Amino acid sequence: MKADAGPDGMFVAGGTDLYPNMKRRHQEPKLVITLMGIPELRRADGRTIGSCITLTDLSASRFVRGSASVVAHAAALVSTPLLRNMGTLGGNLCLDTRCNYYNQTYEWRKAIDFCMKKDGHICWVAPSSPRCWAVNSSDVAPVMVALSADYVLVGPSGERVVPAARFYHNDGINYLTKQPDEVLAAVRLPAPDGWDAVYHKLRRRGSFDFPVLGVAAWVKWETGKGNRPTGRVAEARIVLGGVASWPQEVAAAGAVLVGTDLSDEGVAAAADAAYRPAKPMDNTDFDLSWRKQMTRVYVTRALAELRQRRQAAQ
Ligand SMILES: Cc1cc2nc3c(=O)[nH]c(=O)nc-3n(C[C@H](O)[C@H](O)[C@H](O)COP(=O)(O)OP(=O)(O)OC[C@H]3O[C@@H](n4cnc5c(N)ncnc54)[C@H](O)[C@@H]3O)c2cc1C
Ligand code: SF4
Repeated sequence: MKADAGPDGMFVAGGTDLYPNMKRRHQEPKLVITLMGIPELRRADGRTIGSCITLTDLSASRFVRGSASVVAHAAALVSTPLLRNMGTLGGNLCLDTRCNYYNQTYEWRKAIDFCMKKDGHICWVAPSSPRCWAVNSSDVAPVMVALSADYVLVGPSGERVVPAARFYHNDGINYLTKQPDEVLAAVRLPAPDGWDAVYHKLRRRGSFDFPVLGVAAWVKWETGKGNRPTGRVAEARIVLGGVASWPQEVAAAGAVLVGTDLSDEGVAAAADAAYRPAKPMDNTDFDLSWRKQMTRVYVTRALAELRQRRQAAQ
């Protein structure tokens, strides 16, 4: 169906992002192809989770809560119960990027002569910029990048598997690397082998809003003799959501944690390393300099939670 429709066709899953966008004429497909009638896409088979699982089912899944609780937690933080009942994992991972100058009615956008992302030529956030800076506001995407999950894509030329980080582009318009006729069929979660991860979200209304900052922190604990945990970090990844057009991994923040036991000094160094490259733009909620300050606070809180969980498990 998609091949026949070409650019006039779009996939839809829960429709909680696409349908509001269609009302505002951000996307104007002539044919909408639902994926929800394909039972295989709703199946969870061990660590392989079908993309059409709803966020409610994902957050309640006993398997996910047991083996990757951070995924269940991030899914539970998306919006409201009604939207989680409709919204899916795949739709969340393919979410359109957002901006104050874009997520407006057609008439509002027309009044400012539109913008580069749709129907216009200029970026109102950075008028001399050749690119769009709309932000990735998915709660689950930064978590998948931090976990280094794999995405299974199916298209006319077959199936391919890409690491989550390679699925995203840092560009507000071309924000996904997948081809338009490829379906995100499933996500493969990593095996639970000594890693732990948490997700912290900043938003105005705790029961409703998109993240203006999301921090996904992942650590793999070092093991010593007899495969016993030493309490030290072997590997770490810090990924920020809501501050760039893609989930932004701050490699330097992960690197400074290696070899530490998440001591206050190690955590402070990682929070500082994450703070420096975080460059939120003035295109979402809250003052942007305050949002930047919050990067340090939220990374510190996320790592403190990981340390606490480690201590509780010992
Ligand atoms: C008021 C409100 C608040 C929200 N708050 C949040 C929030 O706090 N956090 C958050 O992360 N999101 C939020 N959302 C966005 C949205 O509800 C969720 O991200 C949801 O998970 C999207 O899933 P969906 O199935 O409804 O996507 P859809 O609307 O069906 O699809 C979204 C996009 O993904 C594409 N797509 C969907 N599934 C696939 C697939 N399997 N393969 C290929 N392409 C696909 C569609 O073509 C479309 O472009 C909010 C939305 C609203 C309206
Ligand atoms: S960042 Fe610029 S081009 Fe992109 S949606 Fe916002 S105003 Fe438009």
